[in-house]
Amino acid sequence: MWEISVKTEKHSEIADITFKVKQIVEASGIKNGLCTVYVPHTTAAIFVNENTDPSVKEDILQTLDKLVPWDDAYSHIEGNAAAHIKTAIIGSSRTFIVENMKIILGTWQGIFFCEFDGPRERTVYVEIIGR
Ligand code: ZN
Repeated sequence: MWEISVKTEKHSEIADITFKVKQIVEASGIKNGLCTVYVPHTTAAIFVNENTDPSVKEDILQTLDKLVPWDDAYSHIEGNAAAHIKTAIIGSSRTFIVENMKIILGTWQGIFFCEFDGPRERTVYVEIIGR
């Protein structure tokens, strides 16, 4: 298992971790298999989307804020229910196909880490199985 450290600076933030995941896969020595990227935190998430135009990240954050406002009639006493809900919607992991020591991604696709209750320092775990 490999680890990626991600440090966020804003309350809600999306960070492109594609390059770090690709580096791990290429260094792993595993030629063909599956790669899972997982974040074990309840206000963080992993997703795949366009990594060419940075405004896509901002549009995703803005839309999530509209769908799940920070202040609402939540029961969770810690006060960060919106962050937990966004994490539940997006999910804590994604799995990728590894072929010839490379992750299969579309031309415009990148792998993103999200934090919805930052700033924080987080660890993303990467596990690769195959041969
Ligand atoms: Zn909480």
